[in-house]
Amino acid sequence: MSIKKIGWKFDNTYLNLSQSMFSKINPTPVKTPKLVLFNHNLSKEIDLDFSKINNNEIASIFSGNQLPDGSETIAQAYAGHQFGHFTILGDGRALMIGEHIDKNENRYDIQFKGSGKTPYSRNADGRAALGPMLREYIISEAMHHLGIPTTRSLAVVETGENVIRESILKGAVLTRVASSHIRVGTFQYALISKNKNDLKNLFDYTVHRHYPDIKKSKSPSIDLLKIVLKKQISLIVNWMRVGFIHGVMNTDNMTISGETIDYGPCAFMDKYDPGTVFSSIDNLGRYAYLNQPRVAKWNLERFAECLLPLISDDNKKAIKIATEVLNEFSNIYKANWLTMMRQKLGILGKKTEDEKLIIELLSWMYQSKADYTNTFCYLMGEYEKKNKIYDEPQFVSWKQKWENRIKLNDNLKESSLKIMRKVNPLIIPRNHLVEEALKSSTEMNDLSKVNELLKNLLKPYERFSETTMYQSTPLHEENYVTYCGT
Ligand code: AMP
Ligand code: MG
Repeated sequence: MSIKKIGWKFDNTYLNLSQSMFSKINPTPVKTPKLVLFNHNLSKEIDLDFSKINNNEIASIFSGNQLPDGSETIAQAYAGHQFGHFTILGDGRALMIGEHIDKNENRYDIQFKGSGKTPYSRNADGRAALGPMLREYIISEAMHHLGIPTTRSLAVVETGENVIRESILKGAVLTRVASSHIRVGTFQYALISKNKNDLKNLFDYTVHRHYPDIKKSKSPSIDLLKIVLKKQISLIVNWMRVGFIHGVMNTDNMTISGETIDYGPCAFMDKYDPGTVFSSIDNLGRYAYLNQPRVAKWNLERFAECLLPLISDDNKKAIKIATEVLNEFSNIYKANWLTMMRQKLGILGKKTEDEKLIIELLSWMYQSKADYTNTFCYLMGEYEKKNKIYDEPQFVSWKQKWENRIKLNDNLKESSLKIMRKVNPLIIPRNHLVEEALKSSTEMNDLSKVNELLKNLLKPYERFSETTMYQSTPLHEENYVTYCGT
């Protein structure tokens, strides 16, 4: 396939790392590829032009049946702490087809998920089912349009083959676009490599690719730890802002770039409950909503362990330095979280009492099972449904305090609303709507609901006629769970 026609510009630098960090492997061809979703906006953003290519050809490319010239397919090696237990992993059902460079010299990993077995597949089939791939497409695109750093989704192609899970499902390949797939787990893998240079090479590669400014600093390894810590804090604060729960914050699912990655059992919280867990296997609530900052810190500790040999030859000294950086986590997180919550409430400036005001609202939301997203919509005058919980005396008196507080801004409610409208989404991918859309796609070949959802999630901060539909929260979501092993 001609590169010129589409505009692929591959420059596959990951292959310059030591051979132990990846395996060269081709995708396993699929029977009858059929294009299900294609992200034309994203393809334009990264300077790829598919307008002269028909859907069958697009499906052939994004199933792995017909690779573009210049692609060099590899499965990346990595390790990871999964629910606290260390394991050697790697791309068991994913392949990077190459690093594409756009006109502004931005570099993107183009990765297939569900493209067949690799040396890291262990006993699994290397394949993915249509429903979960559509789900990753929907949620990752929703996150992007919410303004949250994330990997993106370019295409979903049905394979025409079945995959066997608890039942027989349609197979699919998702194409993921990421600023890189370097994970905390990639460093964990390099740390235990027999080749002593692997860690330093990965470090230099990562710094060059993501944070070239620190190349010349006196202590780049400490700087990298500081940067990744800040990036992850900012990411988690964003998740907390919109009520996103990742579901599997294993170290292999935490990127060095600070993008959200690997949409498995994730979902958006409806009623406010800090203990909300969506993953069916997370019995202990390790990855519950309120635990996310704590887990991020734990994962960063694992990352810091990998950097110790680069920080100093003196292990004790290296631990001391890394610990000092990690000890900053709580203060930085708290300050970022408070800033974010003040914005959600349209508060300008800082007052010590603000924290109490925020906590009071959250406690009330928890007690009254108030919907997290809708409550902020209500405060912005964007939730018009009658809901008697907002007449509860405790809430009414809190609201009075809040109104008094925002008067201290500049006495203009409009100034507060301006801030609030930027950070409080009017719509999120509601679980029941996502499930409905997936059901009609996978069971009835009807993609209209998925497309409708994707269209509406493009502008989550704007009001339009369908907004109220996204504010309904059916009771059956009380025990909503999503599944791993997809
Ligand atoms: P995840 O839960 O998606 O982060 O995946 C954890 C690990 O399991 C990664 O190494 C995946 O590549 C691997 N994995 C998940 N599903 C499959 C599958 N169907 N076939 C092979 N490997 C898989
Ligand atoms: Mg993963």
